[in-house]
Amino acid sequence: MTGAADRSRARAAECPTCAVGTEGAGERVREGQAELRRRLRLAGLSGLLLVGAAAVGWLGPAAGLDPPRAEVLAAVMYVASAVLGGWLVAGKAFRALRSRAVNFEVLVVVAAAGAAAIGDLPEAALVVFLFSVGESLEAAGVSRTRRAIGALLDLVPRRALVRRGGVEEEVPAEEVAVGETVVIRPGERFPVDGRVLSGRSFVDQAPITGESMPVPKGPGDEVFAGSVNGQGSLEVVSTRRAEDTTLARIIHLVEEAEREKAGHQKTIDRFAAAYTPVVTALAVAVAVVPPLVLGGPFGPYVYRALALLLVACPCALVLSTPVAVVAAIGRAARRGVLIKGGSALEAAGRVRAVAFDKTGTLTAGRPEVSDIVASDGLTEEGVLGLAAAVEWRSEHPVAGAIRREAARRGLVPAGGGSAGSGPSTGFAAASAAGTGPPAAPPEVRNIESIPGRGAKARVEGRNHYVGSRALFERDLGVPPGPLAPAARALEERGNTVVYVGTSDRVLGLIAVSDTVREEAAEAVEGLRRAGVGRLYLLTGDNPATASSVAERLGLDGYRAELSPEDKAAAVRTLAAETGPLAMVGDGVNDAPALAAASVGIAMGAAGTDQAIEAADIALMDDDLRQVSFALRLGRRTVGVIRQNIGLALGVKAAALVLAAAGLLPLWLAVLADTGNTVLVIANALRLLGGRE
Ligand code: ADP
Ligand code: MG
Repeated sequence: MTGAADRSRARAAECPTCAVGTEGAGERVREGQAELRRRLRLAGLSGLLLVGAAAVGWLGPAAGLDPPRAEVLAAVMYVASAVLGGWLVAGKAFRALRSRAVNFEVLVVVAAAGAAAIGDLPEAALVVFLFSVGESLEAAGVSRTRRAIGALLDLVPRRALVRRGGVEEEVPAEEVAVGETVVIRPGERFPVDGRVLSGRSFVDQAPITGESMPVPKGPGDEVFAGSVNGQGSLEVVSTRRAEDTTLARIIHLVEEAEREKAGHQKTIDRFAAAYTPVVTALAVAVAVVPPLVLGGPFGPYVYRALALLLVACPCALVLSTPVAVVAAIGRAARRGVLIKGGSALEAAGRVRAVAFDKTGTLTAGRPEVSDIVASDGLTEEGVLGLAAAVEWRSEHPVAGAIRREAARRGLVPAGGGSAGSGPSTGFAAASAAGTGPPAAPPEVRNIESIPGRGAKARVEGRNHYVGSRALFERDLGVPPGPLAPAARALEERGNTVVYVGTSDRVLGLIAVSDTVREEAAEAVEGLRRAGVGRLYLLTGDNPATASSVAERLGLDGYRAELSPEDKAAAVRTLAAETGPLAMVGDGVNDAPALAAASVGIAMGAAGTDQAIEAADIALMDDDLRQVSFALRLGRRTVGVIRQNIGLALGVKAAALVLAAAGLLPLWLAVLADTGNTVLVIANALRLLGGRE
């Protein structure tokens, strides 16, 4: 058994009414609905009988009923009311007692039985009735917080249309293997993640990425299980099995997130573990000590003790945090924002500063080659072809730009970056000595990426490098030489300048320009409005480009030429200055910085496991505005948690004092507990709504 399950078990033993909010999600939501209706029916009947009994007791004699008879009838109705209302309660109490645990149900049954024993039947019935109503409302509220997550499960169709041996057949979605061809007709949902083979269509992938507009898809494009096909029919080759799809991972992570406890929660659990036994002991003392010491009847003291017992369950307190966390995480998941647990959410709520990565984060990550400069003896084509060869496997956006430009000029076949195809045909590359395209394609070996710097490969028997100035100057000790003025000029125009060369000479420069994302300015403004005081840019790119982007967006500062480790160090330094800091990056080579930040936020995480893994918060699409949504949601959640804890503690403290003083009727003690719990849940439900 896992530690998490152990812990939730331990808590269930303390107070199972509280445990409803803290265990897994999924199908249980649907099961819960049926049980909920049963509970509500029983509570309703119990209430009717209770009102009926009171009516008979008061009005019966006036209506001509023989008073003793009216009394007996009322008593029978009270008992019936208590039995109906207490049916499920007693069952749970019995089960708890059998496993030698004491839960709130046990306390309620003891209190009701105690009240009946003292001869107070209306009180007994009222206690049970109030408890059953409260519990139904609690369950309803909790299932609403859950439904946001349960809804994700309904997104994936159970069956898929697969083409096997030229024949289309319908099979259960989980039986589709990787590499099989799946046919998705117009209007259908995708059963697996895959890549489009043929057909064109617009696809609504809002459930996965949160993008509100349908996205055009054609051959080669990636599609996600759970999104909805538009007007065109598509044939898709499946790339992941049903249980590994992006959506399946989201659901899994959300379920885990529910179990992972927020910081507040841990404190509360410790408190609750001490609180219940202390108050229970107090109740026993109240029942026994005064009558023994002072003499006199046990009755009133037992009543007082029963009230105290009812106050001994910290239900509202224990639920105060998890319901808020579950509601917020569910809400975010529906918008394509994956928050990995209560701690991440709380941390997001405390963020005072945000640092952004540049390439692929603030910029669109689809850069274009704007200029090429070749050193003496080389052609532009030679430099570009060589660079494309070295970059063949790199996932960096800059590498993509170089490959695209090389393909456009017919130097390499289109595509690249994928395993299988290689740059071994159709090349027109240059070696250090060569001029113009060699007749035979160059051999490319040992392709290696240098994270945050560039890439390296053996081309025609020699090591070649492609990457930033820092890669050449610092790591290789190669100065730009005669190309220095050209490099400076290109940088000053805001380009990313990629150096191409060997371990002793720079052969050429490729300038790449990337546009700042359309929504970046709006996102920055949104963050300022959300009260994030400091915004920074951390990049591996050159200082000139960094400053041009930082200035354009009105950021508070930038640091350039950082390796992935430098970025992590910069994050720590900034956090020490500004307080809790969120780092927004693309998750691939920003993993150390994401991990170093109080909150790591990965962009464009749909389909990339690495990004989901590295971050505390993963944005399924590339919309920067989701960052301020996540931070605001975190802040609201922290607010709701604080209110809930205040409410729960306040009411409990008041009830405790009243009960000890003998001023708390049993029904009010129950109301103080379940009513309080219902309020706490209702407060958390607010997180499901709201404008953003
Ligand atoms: P950012 O921090 O802006 O996202 P990266 O850390 O991804 O940038 O990369 C920093 C710099 O290193 C880039 O601006 C680029 O000059 C260089 N670089 C990194 N990877 C590559 C690559 N595969 N090809 C060429 N240049 C690269
Ligand atoms: Mg980047």
